[in-house]
Amino acid sequence: SPKATTPDTSASASAATAVADRPAVQLRALTRSFDGRKVLDGVDLDIPAGQFVALLGHSGSGKSTLLRAVAGLDHEVVGSGRLAAPSRVSVVFQDSRLLPWRRVLDNVLLGAEGREAAARGREALAEVGLKGRERAWPNELSGGEAQRAALARSLVREPELLLADEPFGALDALTRIKMHTLLRQLWERHRPSVLLVTHDVDEAIVLADRVLVLEEGRIGLDLTIDRPHPRSYRDPLLGEYRERL
Ligand code: ADP
Ligand code: MG
Repeated sequence: SPKATTPDTSASASAATAVADRPAVQLRALTRSFDGRKVLDGVDLDIPAGQFVALLGHSGSGKSTLLRAVAGLDHEVVGSGRLAAPSRVSVVFQDSRLLPWRRVLDNVLLGAEGREAAARGREALAEVGLKGRERAWPNELSGGEAQRAALARSLVREPELLLADEPFGALDALTRIKMHTLLRQLWERHRPSVLLVTHDVDEAIVLADRVLVLEEGRIGLDLTIDRPHPRSYRDPLLGEYRERL
């Protein structure tokens, strides 16, 4: 059954104060067309430091396009605003994108050398529950383990902003729920701003503090998930939020 996690409010308060006046994302009037068809049509997006935001939208609504723009990976998007410095942005995709010819720890370190980097990499792997798998090859990992490794790889960079494009979309339902608990715990511990793209309404409500819906090229709905926050798929509060989406 899904495990509820309790937010650590004392840690969050101090982390939030430190970066309170530095929003992670502040974008205005983003537009992006493909072959003359507007996919993004004037998106305004603000993400305060430390906020966990989920982005919903039907398939083809432009979620990945928006995420790529936020990540600074799309040079043809038009608009204004700013992101956190690119070095402090980590992106996680639906597939882990681990390099098959590198062991798990080397994937997490990706070029960083030395004892200290290795120690941080091991620590990140332990945090995602992969202690003891440092020397495994990516093809020896299950889908869930590979996504854990991908999360460790993003964590080790201490991102201010974590962007995730359907990171659990390819996992089975039970593994997905474990990953929800893990992601929420990591967020509570490190407090990055998060923009999580998903098409799973319940996932969005359970994980995020704010749910955005992309429709017709804009943010059509911006819903705050208040406290008490539904923390499992069995929470009756979930249904109340679902009705508001
Ligand atoms: P979502 O992630 O919400 O499913 P996408 O952002 O991937 O949607 O795509 C939105 C629309 O933009 C789709 O119609 C898709 O076909 C189109 N699109 C995305 N990327 C490209 C591209 N590189 N070239 C042409 N069309 C694209
Ligand atoms: Mg997509």
